[in-house]
Amino acid sequence: MPELPEVETVKRTLNQLVKGKEIDHVTVNLARIIQRPDDIDQFAFMLAGQTIQGVERRGKFLRILLDDLVLVSHLRMEGRYGVYDSSEPVEKHTHVIFHFKDGTELRYKDVRQFGTMHLFQPGEELNMPPLSKLGLEPLDADFTVEKFQAALAGKTTKIKAVLLNQAYVVGIGNIYVDESLFRAGIHPEQLTNTLTDEQFQALHQAVVATLSESVEVGGSSIKSYVNGQGEMGMFQHQLKIYGRQNQPCQSCGTLIEKSVVGGRGTHFCPVCQSIKP
Ligand SMILES: [Zn+2]
Repeated sequence: MPELPEVETVKRTLNQLVKGKEIDHVTVNLARIIQRPDDIDQFAFMLAGQTIQGVERRGKFLRILLDDLVLVSHLRMEGRYGVYDSSEPVEKHTHVIFHFKDGTELRYKDVRQFGTMHLFQPGEELNMPPLSKLGLEPLDADFTVEKFQAALAGKTTKIKAVLLNQAYVVGIGNIYVDESLFRAGIHPEQLTNTLTDEQFQALHQAVVATLSESVEVGGSSIKSYVNGQGEMGMFQHQLKIYGRQNQPCQSCGTLIEKSVVGGRGTHFCPVCQSIKP
């Protein structure tokens, strides 16, 4: 699944590739991708003649800003955008095509068909599902340790499960949670309300650093994720804990363990990440 750094990379790539392009018409080949409005003809009708003013991100959602609409798009498991010339053959599993006036096309391809698109009036999207229930944005400048700690304060569940919950902090998926907890020296099963101020500080720093670094290298996930320009991501080379079970910890040499926390495969070093009393 693309995680926040991958979606950030898609956002930046789309800004380079489609900003300023005017939509001539839209083809929808799979109605279930379009969640709002209900009617795909209405969806296509509303988008015709709109120009892409820019692409922003909220959590793992893309916000494609148009003249007087906002298209909220989630890639879910396998969704991908690509820009093609209209003469290029349309690949299998291409479900939505934005045909631009300049003869190029933005194509949305999704083998698993879990991706979604919602169309809103500008501003409306932030106050309605799916964006309205999202928590803090970890790459925003105002994501302070105080806000982070306040959002998580008093939770009696395991820290890993809390970090995965998008209602508190958005966009830290399974890989980045494991990496952040390792970096902060916190056991994934430590109960959130037992974290000390120092641990919150270390975790905040680890989350921001882990996400920022992976945005910088272009973002990737373990699967062969390809960004909007067809480039493979690089982040898997930098993973210190995720997917490294039974390999020595890079800090202490202890074999990395794997368990299941919050229903997700979880990697940790039993020495560097012991539960603090
Ligand atoms: Zn270790």
